[in-house]
Amino acid sequence: MSGTLVIVEQLEGRVRRVALEACTTAVRLGQGPVTALAFGAGASAVAEVLGAHGIEQLLVLSEAPFDRYSSDVFASAVAQVVRQVEPTVVLFGATAFGKDLAPRVSGLLKAGLASDVTGVDADGDDLAITRPVYAGKAFQRVRIVGTPKLVSLRPNVQPATPGGGAAARVSTPAVEVAAPQAVVTATQRNDETVELTEASRIVSGGRGLKAPENFRLLEELAAVLGAAVGSSRPVADEGWVPHSYHVGQTGKVVSPDLYVAVGISGAIQHVAGISNSKCIVAINSDPDAPIFKVANYGIVGDLFQVVPALTAALKEHVEAS
Ligand SMILES: Cc1cc2nc3c(=O)[nH]c(=O)nc-3n(C[C@H](O)[C@H](O)[C@H](O)COP(=O)(O)OP(=O)(O)OC[C@H]3O[C@@H](n4cnc5c(N)ncnc54)[C@H](O)[C@@H]3O)c2cc1C
Repeated sequence: MSGTLVIVEQLEGRVRRVALEACTTAVRLGQGPVTALAFGAGASAVAEVLGAHGIEQLLVLSEAPFDRYSSDVFASAVAQVVRQVEPTVVLFGATAFGKDLAPRVSGLLKAGLASDVTGVDADGDDLAITRPVYAGKAFQRVRIVGTPKLVSLRPNVQPATPGGGAAARVSTPAVEVAAPQAVVTATQRNDETVELTEASRIVSGGRGLKAPENFRLLEELAAVLGAAVGSSRPVADEGWVPHSYHVGQTGKVVSPDLYVAVGISGAIQHVAGISNSKCIVAINSDPDAPIFKVANYGIVGDLFQVVPALTAALKEHVEAS
């Protein structure tokens, strides 16, 4: 056994950033040749970008039934490809796709899995793995016994660095396909929003905004910053914003360079989703709000005054530069 297999998530030829982060991680781990496996229409089209990120061979399963996600069919295919390629390490993204797929592959192969990993390094023949537990309040060091070692990487934590290689060689592995137990019949997409788990900047709003129409203030700030908009759970539950905005323990776990929390108290369940942010800025009228304990920068003030002033100042700065 040698090498690393990266399970690549792509849609119509567009690779999810976490897959490129996994490719860069695979090269850095230096476990031997790096192979990728991609599913669905447009999978072959990702050969160039994957080659630039160090992938030598791209295995593609693009025909039906691989054009739509099915947990058992995909897991069985990944397990068969792992048996053929015999990698020592298999990397997934800890996205909804990876979180569903990786444990099933682990079960089929009876192989160890470390999920939602924030740090992974080669340690001789082993991997030194770090992953958050207790909603980000503590970190575990994990060693996976046996091979292959399955790891799902938290998005936006590892760098994605193109090295400038040639396009990956594309081939189709032979896999046996059983009738799926369940299939996705439709996918509703919202092209207008940036996927929060991949956003490098997020402006997030909570109950302090008082009413759904006030999210306009955050959208204006986000537009100047080139940021995605997120929210605390109660405002998503209230229907002020779609559920896809909800950040936290029961929502999306984000790792942006910049997280601006506006009118969010900083309850432990919210902080669980943002603790990997590189810089947290909190705007809150209560100086004792718990969000200030995790914030790198805090503004104590009324958001209805602070946010428009901040947006105007940033606009001025952008126009002047
Ligand atoms: C099992 C479980 C899971 C949960 N999962 C999540 C989760 O994933 N994500 C999540 O977010 N929550 C989650 N929650 C809910 C969580 O406990 C909090 O209730 C929630 O995060 C609070 O949301 P908030 O900060 O928007 O509202 P609040 O707690 O009401 O805070 C509003 C804040 O706005 C400030 N404010 C008010 N007016 C202004 C103003 N004019 N200017 C500036 N600041 C102002 C206030 O000082 C306050 O700090 C969960 C709860 C449970 C029990």
